Amino acid sequence: MRYVSTRSAPQRRQRLAFDDVLLAGLAPDGGLYVPERVPELPELPAALPVSSELPEAPHGQSEALFEPSELPAAPQDASGRAAGMFGYAELAARLMAPYVGEALTVDELTAMARDAYCGFARPEVCPLVELAEDHWLLELFHGPTFAFKDIALQVVARMFDHELQRRGERAMIVAATSGDTGSAAMEAVAGRDRLDIVVLHPAGRTSEIQRRQMTTLDAANVHAVALDGTFDDCQDLVKAMFADEAFRRDMRLAAVNSINWARVAAQIVYYVWAARRLAADGRPVTFCVPTGNFGNVLAGHYAQRMGLAIDRLIVASNSNDILSRLLETGELVAHDVKPTLSPSMDIQISSNLERLLFELCDSDGAATAALLQQFRACRRVKLSPSQHRRIRERFAGERLDDAETLEVMRRVHAESRMFIDPHTAVGVGVAERCRRPGELVVSLATAHPAKFPEAVALATGRAPDPPAALADAAERPERCTSLPNDVSAVKAFVRSARRS
Ligand SMILES: *Cc1c(COP(=O)(O)O)cnc(C)c1O
Repeated sequence: MRYVSTRSAPQRRQRLAFDDVLLAGLAPDGGLYVPERVPELPELPAALPVSSELPEAPHGQSEALFEPSELPAAPQDASGRAAGMFGYAELAARLMAPYVGEALTVDELTAMARDAYCGFARPEVCPLVELAEDHWLLELFHGPTFAFKDIALQVVARMFDHELQRRGERAMIVAATSGDTGSAAMEAVAGRDRLDIVVLHPAGRTSEIQRRQMTTLDAANVHAVALDGTFDDCQDLVKAMFADEAFRRDMRLAAVNSINWARVAAQIVYYVWAARRLAADGRPVTFCVPTGNFGNVLAGHYAQRMGLAIDRLIVASNSNDILSRLLETGELVAHDVKPTLSPSMDIQISSNLERLLFELCDSDGAATAALLQQFRACRRVKLSPSQHRRIRERFAGERLDDAETLEVMRRVHAESRMFIDPHTAVGVGVAERCRRPGELVVSLATAHPAKFPEAVALATGRAPDPPAALADAAERPERCTSLPNDVSAVKAFVRSARRS
């Protein structure tokens, strides 16, 4: 398997192996790496039906749902933990193997995935919960930081460590976060020998808990930075550091934000996992995805390209709705970022969209670069009618504002006594709005409700009890550096943070 940059011209194209793409993050020409071809879904052992995973019908039922991590435990044979069972970790290894190529054997990948997921609160890693008839929630928030980014980052950090060890090198990870990526990356990197990490977040624009999860981690190799700016400013600074060739080489910069292909690869897994459990007969599934940087839903798109029976992918946005406007009008038009109740989706320029644009430009890197250049310069760019048609064949999209989001949270709680977080609620509300009769829909639940207690309390009148690890973060002292929106200040800090 070889990877190419989304901005490379077909004639003068570098073709990289997985391990180089993993460590590089962004391509030297500023593009994102994509696999040259999409592998087919491998042959897999028969799927277990979801009913064996959920001993009792969950919805409308008990107080247990106030605390999702305390749902009845799955029986051993459904968890895949019992000897010889084909569970989530085994599925992850099989699905990632063709993307990883020679970098790791399937056995190494399986060991890595088992290690990554054994700390999750639920043995099935990503449980499915029935919300209404033919509408399921796929809970992606049972990892150490209670958001879906743990699923990819726990594996990707292990891949990094493995590869750096093999090469006898170290790396400095720099990342921008609008909330959840930061803590998930820091948690995945904390205490790892070969890695240091600096995470920039927009000061005052993450929730208190998101900030505390980043600033209270007790590991010498992780550093939180509060930047005086927006998330897009943070992202631009990270890009600027990568664009400085000398700095990048000196620091051995690496990225784990969603531009890293390895994260997309790891996220393909739960789409296949959910479809096999709910629709083992091959009935197509529609996924509704609360979207920010487009990394999560892009993984769904790749699952579909690999041959998974996906009916539609619904892109759910909050009031920062550049993607739903793109789907409606065929034009990408940037507006200013508006803070909402779902901060991890407060993004206007979704970095992973570039990978889709590359596809819409028929893998022509020069055309992709031109499109992006125009967007950067004018803050708007129009797709051709055929590109617009192709994007609408695969994706649907809708938006929910904060008031509508709160109403969804309130109603779900009233109907099924279950708390959902504002990101998940955007997905659920959009799914309900877009759903066609008879369609089987899975809404991705991307954060634990206890990460957003203020919003949950505003919607439902009470806050969910935090899991112990979250309650703990509220007590510990914070460690964070405030920096101006200035690339030389940020570079100086990164230099000082790197261990030799
Ligand atoms: C990151 C995040 C999203 C958005 O995912 P993208 O891959 O950036 O589209 C949605 N919800 C939560 C809770 C997140 O942390």
